[in-house]
Amino acid sequence: MQQITILGSTGSIGCSTLAVIKEHPDKYQVFALAANQQLEKLFQQCVEFKPRYAVLVNEAAAGQLAERLKAAGSITVVLAGTQALETIASEPQVNVVMAAIMGAAGLLPTLAAVKASKKVLLANKESLVLAGKLFMKAVKDHKATLLPIDSEHNAIFQCLPCTQQPLTEMGVRKVVLTASGGPFRTYSSAELRAVTPEQACAHPNWSMGQKISVDSASMMNKGLELIEACHLFAIKPEQVDVVIHPQSIIHSMVDYVDGSVLAQMGNPDMCTPIAHALAWPNRISTAVKPLNLVDICQLDFYPPDEQRFPCLKLAREAAAEGGAAPAVLNAANEVAVEAFLAGTIRFVDIPLINEEVLSKLEVQDSGELESILAADSKAREVATAVIKHIGL
Ligand code: NAD
Ligand code: MG
Repeated sequence: MQQITILGSTGSIGCSTLAVIKEHPDKYQVFALAANQQLEKLFQQCVEFKPRYAVLVNEAAAGQLAERLKAAGSITVVLAGTQALETIASEPQVNVVMAAIMGAAGLLPTLAAVKASKKVLLANKESLVLAGKLFMKAVKDHKATLLPIDSEHNAIFQCLPCTQQPLTEMGVRKVVLTASGGPFRTYSSAELRAVTPEQACAHPNWSMGQKISVDSASMMNKGLELIEACHLFAIKPEQVDVVIHPQSIIHSMVDYVDGSVLAQMGNPDMCTPIAHALAWPNRISTAVKPLNLVDICQLDFYPPDEQRFPCLKLAREAAAEGGAAPAVLNAANEVAVEAFLAGTIRFVDIPLINEEVLSKLEVQDSGELESILAADSKAREVATAVIKHIGL
């Protein structure tokens, strides 16, 4: 029986992970669940899955959860604060950690799981964007098993013979990330100026958390994924292509030197990569609708438009620059997306803010965690100041 900790259990990926686990009670048991402050949802998950521990970062909400669980006769122990996230990620009884916290907040608990040599299922792409070098070194040093959950990276992983060798030695020419293009794929620059947070969060193919939905709409998600791919597969930014594929059936591809291109396909549902990583190297069933290509009929592909969606270009530049540049871009973007969701800025301001913060900050990175975290907080400060300046 595999014991599982889910960091970010109340989110979109967290809930899909629980849905997969529920189908296989003979194989997986929930050891711990964690969220930021979603008391009601975590309470329901605790009642259903009976974890040993539940964590809420928010202390007051954690106190209320403990009272509610006690009144319900539950034996789940409630912990509070960010340190508790690291505790449940590294407990000796835990076999698998699903890293599904949103944003840079996921870095330290995910790193704790890596340092405790766990099997880590990585949804939190921001960990790699922020601290990819250090993170991948920790995976190696601590012999952790890292499995990508992001559907594109999971697809690439499935199309590679192994990940132990450098990709060029396996005959890989490049990897191709597919992107749906998001809800505004066909919008003109003028139309993009007026889009609302509700429109940005209504993704045509995937049901996801708000932040990643906005990132998908701005193409920043693909930019973050490009940086994620460079670290996960030890490749250069120029070996990562991006192609728009509106149907989201091909989740990504690997292009080999002999002319072969391997693609992984399936209906767009995160339960597939989650089940793949949970059971790897075996396979388990999911409730995902089987793919019927005759029904789908047509698969389309277009080049990305970096004029209307400049975030992808910014990410490519930050990846090439290296050092703390990706951490700065990620932090600026998190602040900008929050401001857009709060109605403080327009959608088209997101790339402008990201670009301005990237150009304003002298990025220094000693390669240590402290300098990365310092770059992250400095970028947040600068982004907040830029937003105050342009705020609606
Ligand atoms: P979400 O917003 O639905 O859920 C986020 C979860 O993280 C919630 O449980 C929330 O309580 C928790 N959380 C947020 N801030 C926190 C903090 N400061 N401390 C502790 N916990 C915190 O997000 P999501 O869509 O499930 O995405 C989670 C991660 O997975 C992101 O990194 C995202 O990029 C990645 N991802 C998501 C999808 C998807 O389909 N949703 C696909 C690929 C990758
Ligand atoms: Mg993805």
